Amino acid sequence: MKRIFGLFMIGVMLVSMTACAKNSAGDLPGHTTISIDKKEESIELFAMDTYMTVTAYGNQAKCALQVAETRIRQLERLWSVIDPESELYMVNHSNGVPMDVDKVTSKAISFALSMADRTAGALDPTIYPVLTSWGFTTGSYQIPSQDELDSLLQLVGYDKVLLDGQKITVPEGMQMDLGAVAKGYTADIVMSILKDQGITSALIDLGGNIQTVGYKPDGSKWRVGIKDAYGDGNIGVLTVADCAVVSSGGYERYFIGDDGQTYWHIIDPSTGKPADSGLVSATVVCKEGRLGDALSTALFVMGLQDAETQWRECGDFEMILMTQNNELYITEGLEADFALNQSHDGMPVHVIEK
Ligand code: AMP
Ligand code: MG
Repeated sequence: MKRIFGLFMIGVMLVSMTACAKNSAGDLPGHTTISIDKKEESIELFAMDTYMTVTAYGNQAKCALQVAETRIRQLERLWSVIDPESELYMVNHSNGVPMDVDKVTSKAISFALSMADRTAGALDPTIYPVLTSWGFTTGSYQIPSQDELDSLLQLVGYDKVLLDGQKITVPEGMQMDLGAVAKGYTADIVMSILKDQGITSALIDLGGNIQTVGYKPDGSKWRVGIKDAYGDGNIGVLTVADCAVVSSGGYERYFIGDDGQTYWHIIDPSTGKPADSGLVSATVVCKEGRLGDALSTALFVMGLQDAETQWRECGDFEMILMTQNNELYITEGLEADFALNQSHDGMPVHVIEK
């Protein structure tokens, strides 16, 4: 039955893919097409546990967005950690037996493992058992005992996961969660679908994971608000084009314990406890959504100093970090494109230079 459903979905995909034709700009590489058509279309959906809005401009926009939505739903079905039909759920319940997964799943896992390596385990896609013990996966929040954390941490370690092509082996008891990278990964896929359909201007917002395609239809840059971790509004606005802007912060999901302390959903894999690095939010600006998503979570765990080192050594992203004492650190590549909101006029802003 599942197989028939799968074939049906592929059929639906093919129909919607072929029904969308490329526009003239896509068909004639090297030719300059002057388009005055700025027709705006958008879709809103709830997927991957978050509200998503994708807005695209041009004649092909409506059709392209339909293809994108179908793909988002497919990816959600593959990567949900709570749906017993999902690939990731099956991987997490495979009792250590190697399992073949879809190519896109193997690529997403491979990316997550490589980022875990790059960030020395600050990002660890095997943190799921610990996350569950805090109740972040169910909403039944609790503070686990140190003993419980110590024993659960034995089940954490991205280096114990084996990935050989599309075959994955997750040792018995261990579980994976793509929550820290899935939205960014999906945004990249949505972006390539839109571009493939000839869209040159679009804004992809997957629950605050922002990806901008080209410039706005009027040729100006997009304005992306950077959230205030301590309030409802924005601390400032970034003016960008053709890039991803991804934030991670304690404010996104947290609970207040009986002890009056705030516990948030980003866990430091070295302690099993909510990251306590001195940061309250980390925003990454870079070319690819997946990199931004993985890094923003990891930098939040690492803290200011290690984030700076990562920035200096890698050179493939810019960042804005907000600290617990309400100060802002911004890398020099963003200085000209960032403006503090009037409401945050007195906020100290430090520019990190090479
Ligand atoms: P993000 O919103 O992208 O920062 O991702 C946060 C989500 O990633 C959490 O809700 C968890 O599902 C998962 N997560 C939490 N801590 C980590 C971590 N250190 N490494 C990998 N995933 C994590
Ligand atoms: Mg992330």
